[in-house]
Parts: sequence; structure tokens; C-alpha cells
Amino acid sequence: MLEKYKKEFLSQNVQFILLDEHGAVTESDDEIFKVSSGSLLPSLHPFFESIPSIDDLDENALDFFCVNLKFDNVDLIVDIKVKRKKECVLLSITDFTEHYNSYQSVAQSRNESIIKTELTVLKNLELEERERFKNQFIQNFSHELRNPLTSVMAISDILNDTNLSTEQVKMLDFLKVSAKNLHLLIEDTLSIGMIDAGKMNIQNKRFSLKDLFDLLSFTYGNKIKQKGISFNFIWDDKLPTEVVGDRLRLYQVLENLLNNALKYTAQGSISFEMNLNQKWANKASVRVKVSDTGTGIHENNLSAIFESFNRVETDEKIKGTGLGLTIVKNLLHLMGSEIKVESEKNKGSTFYFDKVFEYQIGGLKSNPLLEKPEAQKTKPKKNSKKYKVLLVEDDESVQLSLFKILLNTKQFHVDLAYDGNLVLQEVVNTNYDCILMDVNLPNIDGDQITRLIRDFPFKNVKNIPIIGITANAYPENIQEYIKAGMNEVLVKPFQKEAFLETLYKVLK
Ligand code: ADP
Repeated sequence: MLEKYKKEFLSQNVQFILLDEHGAVTESDDEIFKVSSGSLLPSLHPFFESIPSIDDLDENALDFFCVNLKFDNVDLIVDIKVKRKKECVLLSITDFTEHYNSYQSVAQSRNESIIKTELTVLKNLELEERERFKNQFIQNFSHELRNPLTSVMAISDILNDTNLSTEQVKMLDFLKVSAKNLHLLIEDTLSIGMIDAGKMNIQNKRFSLKDLFDLLSFTYGNKIKQKGISFNFIWDDKLPTEVVGDRLRLYQVLENLLNNALKYTAQGSISFEMNLNQKWANKASVRVKVSDTGTGIHENNLSAIFESFNRVETDEKIKGTGLGLTIVKNLLHLMGSEIKVESEKNKGSTFYFDKVFEYQIGGLKSNPLLEKPEAQKTKPKKNSKKYKVLLVEDDESVQLSLFKILLNTKQFHVDLAYDGNLVLQEVVNTNYDCILMDVNLPNIDGDQITRLIRDFPFKNVKNIPIIGITANAYPENIQEYIKAGMNEVLVKPFQKEAFLETLYKVLK
């Protein structure tokens, strides 16, 4: 029984042909293709021409694998075995067409998947490389702009304190607004780079939400009214005034939303609201809303406005980079919130989000781990004492502007050093009350000098307050400088007030 089925199975795939000593067919079972008795083997298919004549064959079988043959327009892939018998030759042809084809397609799909994986790896590497290049470019670009901008801002502040005509005051105001815009642009560009590189850390410190609201209402209220637009601001009295969160980043979000409302509204009104959704335990959910009666956005464009560098339906005259809303979206996402928009073309837009803040029930008691509220920050010293300050800065324009600011207060004697190597000599010879130390210096960096000073054996040198001044604005840079022993770090560009406030804070 088994033999019968075996035969049935085998006969479907194998053909046996017997040849005489001249290579002519004597017998064939014709299982695969028809062969007439007496035909010479090469006449069946050109492949058989390659089979040696009977005299050249020995007892060992000759094997040919994966041979492509075509009979009666049918493509076959076969294995052929040629074996010499006593007075004849036995040819067995096994049809493995299906087997070889499936093997080929498996091999092909395997190769394709290997190639695909390699392509994906290459693509990812290229994307990573591009991302790295972009972030490095942004970092360098914003770094290089910070020195000239520090001088522009500082010199504007110095000019502000001189006797100016009304015309000059107006021009100076323009200069200050331009410098402020440029500063915002640098910060926004850097923020995008930081978000993309996953380096944006959200702080959780105590701050006054009410003060932030008042400050923005005041600054934007004035700007909006100057444009002839009415401004409404609503602060819900049920809100906690002080909360825990990232004041700087929240400020950046709100500034972008208010700037847009101002930019894209020519008439009507703009409103800025903070309302309580609900309070539970020590948490409060706040709805923050900025609405305007401006140009509005077409429904189809509502998702595109959040993509970087995307500007939609904008009038050429309205300047922008298309970065603002990308930053808003990403910062809020990092803060666990989400920006929402409702807008109608030619009617206006409303941007809003809900943010949960922690707060202390019954008011906040002083907690050294949390940031001091704005109002408690150190005020300039009102005494007649003269302080000795060493200013270490190699950029001449920054040096000149800081020097001037210090001299104008009439509270400082200032020594200058261009080169980090001179600092160690200076601190040994003179008793300084503070060192203002640029970080990027020729020969030796400011943070390295700080480490050397902190390792000094003499107390009066070792403990000199050091304020780092840097164009490297990444939080990890600042942490590194603090770790090196700097008391405070100022990121360029900074306003005169912030500079003096930081200086007074470290002076004894
Ligand atoms: P920018 O204002 O620099 O172009 P944004 O990312 O802040 O970049 O905004 C992206 C786009 O969204 C803007 O170009 C504008 O088309 C649209 N947009 C944003 N805010 C408003 C608004 N308040 N009213 C109308 N259109 C707006």
C-alpha cells in the first residue's frame, strides 16, 4: 500500500530516460515532458549538449542543480542526475520548480528586509546627524549674537541715564524695542533647539501667578491701547496668588500668545483671562485664555499653525518666524498641558489651555527649597560704601558697557582683566569684593579660574564672590559653572537692572 502511494507521489515529479551508447533515447516514462524514442538528447533541449558522451562518463553520477528548462512554453526548474549503467545512460529529471521559486521568493524577501533595515538605520543616522548639526548651529548662532546684543542693551541703558532731547528719547525707545525683539528671537530659537534636543527642563519653583498676570497685563495693556484696541484682563479672585511651576516658561508661553494677539489684530479688542476651573487638595486647575478680534485663521489651517516655521495666510507686512506657537505647544506639553484654539476667519481667535498648579493652602510660608517671590528679591544697596570689583571680559564692547554701568552707580572701583591668566595674579595682590567673570576667555576659561580660586589656601581669595557672565544659555552649562564655584551666573544679554541686582545680591 505504502509503496503504491510512494510511487504515485514520486512519479509526479521525476522523469526517467534511458539512452543508448550513441546518446539516443531508448525509453522514457514521460512524467514531465514528452520524448520520442530514437531522438538524440541535445535535440530535446540545448542544455543537454553540456552532458558528456557515454565514453566519458564513469560509474559516479553527474548532478546538475537548479537547471532552467522550457518545454512547450512551460518554465521548469529541475535537478538532473546522469548515471552510467552498463550499456546505457540513465537520466533522472526532478521537477523542483515550486520549491526553487518559493526558495527564491523567501531569499528575495529576506534580502529586501535586510536592505530595508539598513536603509532605515542609515536614514535615522542621517536624521540624527542633521538634528545634531541644526542644534549645534542654533547654539552657536545664538551664542555669537549675545555679545553684541549685550552691548546694545547696556549702552541703551547708559544713554537712558544721560540728558537726551525728546527726539533722542524716542529714537532710544525704538532701539530698545528692537533689541528686546532680537533678544526674544534668540531665546525662542534657542528654546526650539533645546526642546528638539530634549534639553528643556521644566522647573518647579514657587512664584506669584498674580504678579505674572499683573506684569503681562500692564506691559501688553499699554501696547494694545497704543494701537487703539481695547484691552480687557480678568483675574479670578478665587485663584491662589502663589503657585509652584516654571515662571519663566509660562511667561514665554503667554508672551507669545499676547504678542500674536497684538500682531494679528488691527481693531476691536483683546482679552487676557485667568480663571479657576476647580481646586482640590493643594491643587488648582487654571484656565488661561487670550482672545482677539483679529484676522482669525481658516479652519483648514488650524493644525498647521503649530508647526515650526509655518506661517499661514499672513500679510507680508506682519513680521514673524513661525516659531511662537511651536514653542507654546511644546512648552505646555512639557508642563503637562495642551494649547487649544478656536478661530473664525475675519472674526478673531481664542487660544486657551488648562494648567494644574500646586499651591499651599492658607498662603505660603517661607521654604528655602522654593524660589523667593519677586518682591523679596535683593534690592540695590543704599549705602556710601565703595566696592572693589574685578571685571574679567575679553569682548571690548561688553567690557566697556559693563564698566560704564558700574562707574555710573558711583559705588564701584573697577579693575579690568582681558586674560584669564592675569586674574590669579590680580586676586592675590588686591582685595576684591567681587569678580565679574566672563566664561569664554582666551587661554583659560572662567569656570576653570573659579575652580583654582576656590582651591586657594588664603580665605580672602578663596571666598571672593564670583559672578559668571556667559553666552552659553543651556541649563547644563549654568549648573556646571555653579558647580565650579560661581555664586551666580548671568546669561547674556541682560538688562542693567538684572546685572546690578545680581551684583548687589552677592556683595557683603
Ligand atoms: P509668527 O507669528 O511668527 O508667524 P506663530 O508660530 O506665533 O508665528 O504663529 C503661526 C501662525 O499662526 C501665524 O503666522 C499666523 O498665521 C497664525 N496666528 C497665530 N496667532 C494668531 C492670531 N492671534 N490671530 C490670527 N492668526 C494667528
